[in-house]
Amino acid sequence: SDHSARRFMSQQTKMHHPKTYDYIVIGGGSGGSASARRAAGQYGAKTLLVDGGPAGGTCVNAGCVPKKMTWNWSGFRHIIDVAKGYGYSWNESPSANYTAFKSRRDASIARLNDSLEQNWIRDGIHRIWGRAHFVDNDTLSIEHPNSGKHTLYKAPHILVAAGGRPIVPDIPGAEHGITSDGFFRLTEIPPKIAVVGAGYIAVELAGSLAQVGVESHMFIRGKHLLRRFDPLIQEEITRIYEAYGSKIHRDHTGFQKIELLQPDKDGKKVLQLVGNDGQKMEVNELLWAVGRTPNMQDLQLDIPGVIQSLSGHIQVDEYQNTSANGVYAIGDVTGKYELTPGRISQFRFFRPQADRGYITVVAIAAGRALADRLFGPPERKNARLEYSNIPTVVFSDPEIGTVGLTEPEARLAYGDAAIKTYQTSFTDMFYSFSPTEALPTRMKMICAGTEERVVGLHLLGKGVSEMLQGFSVAVKMGATKADFDRTVAIHPTAAEELVSIA
Ligand code: FAD
Ligand code: NDP
Repeated sequence: SDHSARRFMSQQTKMHHPKTYDYIVIGGGSGGSASARRAAGQYGAKTLLVDGGPAGGTCVNAGCVPKKMTWNWSGFRHIIDVAKGYGYSWNESPSANYTAFKSRRDASIARLNDSLEQNWIRDGIHRIWGRAHFVDNDTLSIEHPNSGKHTLYKAPHILVAAGGRPIVPDIPGAEHGITSDGFFRLTEIPPKIAVVGAGYIAVELAGSLAQVGVESHMFIRGKHLLRRFDPLIQEEITRIYEAYGSKIHRDHTGFQKIELLQPDKDGKKVLQLVGNDGQKMEVNELLWAVGRTPNMQDLQLDIPGVIQSLSGHIQVDEYQNTSANGVYAIGDVTGKYELTPGRISQFRFFRPQADRGYITVVAIAAGRALADRLFGPPERKNARLEYSNIPTVVFSDPEIGTVGLTEPEARLAYGDAAIKTYQTSFTDMFYSFSPTEALPTRMKMICAGTEERVVGLHLLGKGVSEMLQGFSVAVKMGATKADFDRTVAIHPTAAEELVSIA
């Protein structure tokens, strides 16, 4: 009949003529979502967003958000101890119920997923569930999770914002441990944990666990935690972690195998770690926090022209262009922003910061700038993210905040003679009545040149995660030590020390 002929025709069309868009974004994490929303919501670009997982990607589901909530949760332990000094007392000793907290945290994240989906609808984004892979520079095949069907989509601009996933080392039995993804699925806190790694995730999660009394063993291959941070931060955080509950196994040479002695029954998992040095240790959980790798496994990004680095990251220029025309990449899936040799001297000192790690704000800012450049008004045609002076915070206990260059980076960039540093160390008034609970506050300011431009701020202590944002505006604007000094202090605060540091 006419009807079935027409249907046959339309199926043929579906197979042969891909649906077309102005912009296709692969990945609805921090970067992809921000870019799609800017393109569709602000500029009316016909935008398709594809993701096989829950809205919000790593940050919302297994990163910044559950991590910060967990940090808040464990932080009460410290506040409760300090409160005793202020005269608070309890009839029963307070206890922390992780299982209850975890279910509230999950519910809160589910609400965030929903509101993000609603925002996408409001912005006119066409969202589909599925895994995308390239068939050509401008054409994607998207596999729908339930039906397994593939549909073709085409756009002149395709953004890869596929993020990354945790690395699990290639050691027999490594799969018996967990990564940060598994950590956020735990319904109970293990009494004794081994954490491998000395970066952001190891320091943040081991810190939260130690706060609530977990016996935490950190296995690090160097001497200090957070090796890419300023030496003051590295030394202080390592010293404090050791003094307040974490056992740090320095210069660790790795493990030959991991044995599962008892599977997880009622939170009573037992693992045996066998070190390369023959040392054995039994723990209830093992957390791999040894870095992340880009999500490239199913993208088939071997399309002509897209260059990947040895680590599998997509190489991009400062405008997020890949080496293939019309294909862009942002966020955790991208490699380090490589500078053309002619500009290295000018930007040399900006590079190490990008090396400190990828963070959500970088993915978001780069995603928005790209949408501006592709679909925005003429004055935004050269929009790009400036990869300099990106502030970053580690939600450790105590907190760390840093912007700009470390002291070794500054000395390398400007020469020893041009660098002057200022430091201060004090105990926050918060601890006035609980000296035994006091965690120190340390601050370091690095200035360059005769005008003493502030090129680095390194903070550790109570409240610095909130303190840093405002100061990073000043650093970004090129403030000098004299600008800091002529700012009136807000008293009594910890932050005032930064405008009176000598
Ligand atoms: P992602 O957020 O990872 O999103 C990628 C998306 O792409 C995912 O949703 C995935 O499902 C999808 N995808 C992948 N492949 C495909 C495909 N083939 N087809 C369709 N979809 C696909 N940063 C901070 O700034 N502050 C913090 O406090 C912080 N804490 C963190 C804590 C942890 C434990 C972790 C792991 C990370 C943390 N980060 C933090 C880093 C931050 O989460 C990432 O930098 C950020 O999420 C990167 O965003 P993205 O858009 O590049 O990728
Ligand atoms: P990081 O890159 O921060 O740290 C990786 C750590 O793993 C380093 O300490 C490194 O040691 C160690 N390591 C690497 N390989 C091995 C090995 N074979 N054996 C032992 N140790 C090893 O990665 P994370 O996994 O902690 O976090 C991933 C990224 O997520 C971060 O870089 C950051 O971009 C982002 N993130 C941001 C947060 C924030 O903004 N607050 C919080 C959490 C994550 P070494 O020191 O010796 O080099």
